[in-house]
Amino acid sequence: MVDNNDFYVRFWGVRGSIACAGPETVRYGGNTSCLEIRCGEYLLMFDAGTGFRYLGNALVKEAPIQADLFLTHTHLDHVVGLPFFVPGFNPQNEFRIWAGHLLPNHTIREVLGAMMMAPLFPVSLEIFQAKIGFHDFHAGETIAPKPGVIVRTAPLNHPNNATGYRIEFNDQSICYLTDTEHNADTPDQKILDLIEGADIVIYDSMYTDETFHGREGWGHSTWQEGMRLCDAANVKMFVIFHHDPDHDDGYMDEVAKEVSQLRPGSIVAQEGMVLRP
Ligand SMILES: [Zn+2]
Ligand SMILES: [Zn+2]
Repeated sequence: MVDNNDFYVRFWGVRGSIACAGPETVRYGGNTSCLEIRCGEYLLMFDAGTGFRYLGNALVKEAPIQADLFLTHTHLDHVVGLPFFVPGFNPQNEFRIWAGHLLPNHTIREVLGAMMMAPLFPVSLEIFQAKIGFHDFHAGETIAPKPGVIVRTAPLNHPNNATGYRIEFNDQSICYLTDTEHNADTPDQKILDLIEGADIVIYDSMYTDETFHGREGWGHSTWQEGMRLCDAANVKMFVIFHHDPDHDDGYMDEVAKEVSQLRPGSIVAQEGMVLRP
């Protein structure tokens, strides 16, 4: 039975840039970005990195499925799981794919079609038998994908653009902001506005303030900046996300220890973890 008020996020991929399966990342997980967010009976999915394949496998038994997939952007680590999403091959299922970073020069259908194109990939987008709708919007717009579910968005600072999301359900909120670079001098006002008063904020924390130097322009941020933004915007729970593939479990344990001393209740995302506002 579905609890019509249950609101939660489950992490299927927490890693940035490239998947890194192996004994040294087994606890935090090696798959790239993918979140499942349940708003009662409604299913929202965010990003289709390598974790998306595992989410798909878990969903097979729920057919017929109607769900929305929101993409932060289309760098490969956020879309490469799409062709391996088994529910996409069931004609009973229906999906809408949303992207806010491509207009006016591209559309999401065109860009995903370019990824699934020979000789880079053996089959095209048309292989999917589920009903798939492609929806481009402008980051900054607000979307109401289902009754009682509000998705607010904001543009992020990332090469080729990206979209940040705030999902609201039953007066609670979960924010997902990955692949964004901060400016060391001033906080990103668009992000502060989006996350104000949120219950959970999942933020691109690939680097530390120290290791950020020399990586300006790469499009990523630090866990210290995430903490500062959450403090400034009165956020309840800060979640470190988009881990560097070179950061093994021991390294992530140290980050978890440090952040929980500085901002108690903060969390380092792990594959399989479920968080509720
Ligand atoms: Zn990424
Ligand atoms: Zn990216």
